[in-house]
Amino acid sequence: MDGLTREIFAPLEIVCHAGDPGVCAYVIEEGCVEVLRGEGGDQILVAVLSEGAMFGEVALLDRQPRTATIRALVPTRLVRIERDHVEELLLRADPVIQHLLRLLLARFRNPFGAGNGPGQEPGRLGDGVYAEKQDRDLQAAAVRTLSLARDLSHALDASQLELYYQPIITFSDRSLAGFEALLRWHHPTMGLISPMEFIPLAEKTGLIHRVGQWVLERATADWLDLREICPTGRACQMSINLSAPELGGDHIVDAITSSLSRRGIPAHELRVELTETIVIRSIDQVSLALERLRAAGVGIALDDFGTGYAGLDYLQTLPFSCIKIDKSFVQQINASERSMHIVKTALELARGLGMTTVAEGIEDQVIADQLKAMGCTYAQGYHFGRPMPKSAVATWLQQFNASPAVAP
Ligand code: C2E
Ligand code: CA
Ligand code: CA
Repeated sequence: MDGLTREIFAPLEIVCHAGDPGVCAYVIEEGCVEVLRGEGGDQILVAVLSEGAMFGEVALLDRQPRTATIRALVPTRLVRIERDHVEELLLRADPVIQHLLRLLLARFRNPFGAGNGPGQEPGRLGDGVYAEKQDRDLQAAAVRTLSLARDLSHALDASQLELYYQPIITFSDRSLAGFEALLRWHHPTMGLISPMEFIPLAEKTGLIHRVGQWVLERATADWLDLREICPTGRACQMSINLSAPELGGDHIVDAITSSLSRRGIPAHELRVELTETIVIRSIDQVSLALERLRAAGVGIALDDFGTGYAGLDYLQTLPFSCIKIDKSFVQQINASERSMHIVKTALELARGLGMTTVAEGIEDQVIADQLKAMGCTYAQGYHFGRPMPKSAVATWLQQFNASPAVAP
């Protein structure tokens, strides 16, 4: 405990009062303290803590007021542990540990119902009910996260993951330009889990590398069939999504090039998509891998363009071949000037830098017509085709080709 602050207390001196803000925890280095609950003359002694014991950690972690008064019994030396320090460590901790901790804190704070925990003011009825609901929601969310994190590692081995494919359409002639592979998890008891929920979990638990490898292998294997239904003589592509941790080392580049060459797929038939947020947050980390992928001939799309709230310098320095305009702007193009501005900016930038563009989330013909008129290269959205299992793709294509009424 070197480098930490010590505080000295005389016998019967108060260390903290119930209700004080919990800005730090203490470890008793020498001496002992008593823990008192209740108020004024009604205080009762609930514990005596001696050397090595820690106290104040619950208020420190859940940012609630202290639940007890602590008083030194003999000359006492305490080591002070600051909240900032603990929070910094916690931020780096596994998300499962974080959730577990929140769950335990909620239980500790509230064993008999919110607002009436030990040493807490009984809340007003409304507040209590609200807090109780919050506690229940928090616990339910924590239990769900813990279960999913536990089950995800089995999901791969138990064949519970599946790739769905969403068609990407060329605006100019309404032909099929390829697919984006989108991951689905068929959980045995919880049903279909969205990648928005389990991908972040896989990233934080490190499982994303195995998941990413599985996606790469599945998508390239399925592409051998799917490319057969794409128009001949056209540049069609399979797109896969990559996460930030996957782009950390050289491994991903080798994995991609080896998967392509094993299956005899030309590199330009694969496109990797990474979100603007990933690019901005870890530009140094990703740029080397992206350069190598581009040099190998793999396409690189900047996903969710417009959501990252950053400057645009990185667009010139990183080797993108395509910009995907986020669906939130595409769908709001007629409702918000800002959305229209972002869409126009993306299209101009891409034109200037020699990149193609995909408009995501197109759900109706009006918006499709507008984007086509504005010069966007590709369309993606429920209006053309939802993400679907590979087995459904051929039927979708037949129906799509037979329905020129929805032509862009
Ligand atoms: P994304 O890459 O932006 O994928 C597009 C999302 O928009 C997909 O959600 C797709 O189903 C949805 N979408 C497509 N067209 C429309 C439309 O017209 N309207 C609406 N409302 N939504 C539309 P999905 O499949 O739930 O995937 C969510 C996100 O999860 C993806 O966003 C991507 O960031 C991530 N993800 C999916 N698969 C993978 C994967 O294999 N690896 C990684 N790292 N991330 C993945
Ligand atoms: Ca994507
Ligand atoms: Ca996207």
